Amino acid sequence: MSFSSLGLIEPLLRAVAERNYSTPTPIQTEAIPAILRGSDVQASAQTGSGKTAAFALPILQHLATTRRERGRFVRALILVPTRELAAQIGESFRVYARFLPEPIKTLVVYGGVSINPQMMALGGGADVIVATPGRLLDLIDHNAVSLSAVSTLVLDEADRLFEFGFTDEFNRILGLLPARRQNLLFSATFPAEVQSLATNLLHEPVRIAIAAEPANKPDILQRVIEVDAPQRTQLLRHLIEANAWTRVLVFVATKYATEHVAEKLRRAGLAASALHGELSQGARTQALADFKASKIRVLVATDLAARGLDIIELPVVVNFDLPRSAVDYTHRIGRTGRAGESGVAVSFVSADTHAHFCLIEKRHQLDLPREQIEGFEPVETDIPAPASTGGVKGKRKSKKDKLREAAARQQTGTASESSPARESASMPTLQPEIKFSWRRRPSSLR
Ligand code: AMP
Repeated sequence: MSFSSLGLIEPLLRAVAERNYSTPTPIQTEAIPAILRGSDVQASAQTGSGKTAAFALPILQHLATTRRERGRFVRALILVPTRELAAQIGESFRVYARFLPEPIKTLVVYGGVSINPQMMALGGGADVIVATPGRLLDLIDHNAVSLSAVSTLVLDEADRLFEFGFTDEFNRILGLLPARRQNLLFSATFPAEVQSLATNLLHEPVRIAIAAEPANKPDILQRVIEVDAPQRTQLLRHLIEANAWTRVLVFVATKYATEHVAEKLRRAGLAASALHGELSQGARTQALADFKASKIRVLVATDLAARGLDIIELPVVVNFDLPRSAVDYTHRIGRTGRAGESGVAVSFVSADTHAHFCLIEKRHQLDLPREQIEGFEPVETDIPAPASTGGVKGKRKSKKDKLREAAARQQTGTASESSPARESASMPTLQPEIKFSWRRRPSSLR
């Protein structure tokens, strides 16, 4: 299968060739002809599957071959949950549109930055707007843009739009769109609300499900390293240096931990930055740009960075703190091994988080071997309960007990920064409805 057999026009084929895409990815093979035909599409696809080009290329073709009205109108609207994803998709549109005979005006709008430049840029409308819902509504309220001529609506990462609480904004936007339009819905997962949205929004959609999830892709080597929680930063440093990893995305559970781990790495002489949702937009953009340009070697991030971010040639992802859910695990490790490249995903597992990792494995039907690294072998296999909790000597503490203790320690601030208590306090917790008994694996699996 080649791009030229999908029905794309020559300037788009040229742009694709310039990006060195030799063959379309499965989602592109299925979605591009359907979108070119004008069908609605419901696609379940992860970031990393090539989904941006799957909708951007046919949308650009439609825009390039139809007339644009003058005024504050927008022709294609892409709604996304995060600023980073918006910026990335906007950039893709610009890259793919480069060789089109008429320029295609693509604007990216999101909150957290001044609205004025966005209002100015919108003068005369735009062909494509990639927007987060809240800022788009602000611009509509300022009369800077009209949605009445939108011919294609894309919802990208629809599950996250809901997760981030954009439901009201989204419904208001829907009310402002013309009834006749093409709708394309992309989502990694289809929880009930996304499914019901799909049912209401889409007209006889072409349904596309891309089976290969990053968690099961053979080109991501998944490594699980047993280590005591307080040793993780040192181990991370050791792995980076011993393996000469040039670019590492490290996931931690909290904003605090991003800063804390990045700072420790910097003190050890590694160029590292933190990325989390409470940084200013400027700082977030800078951290990502520095990472992409290899000015920093380690980016320590919360799950904010787990989806949507496209960092080309990201060879290694490290789960310093485990993700909360099996789905988040997929998204995190899917940051590497993208578009045919191989990658390594390393998860740190300690006595405290072992059960949680087993659960993630169970959900993905994985059974990964455990590794220990010389000099970092864990010594904490069990934590005896203190007398005050009424624990029986030698009996493993319940999750509740541990959480209660961690919360108490955090409140009193008694834990030192690198103590196990402090680090385990930032650990994600098991979902309450899941019961799982802790077990050591047989040595053959460890
Ligand atoms: P996406 O899933 O849209 O975030 O794309 C993931 C990555 O795959 C991006 O870096 C794209 O540039 C790249 N990509 C998209 N389509 C192809 C293709 N057909 N061949 C190779 N790389 C691709």
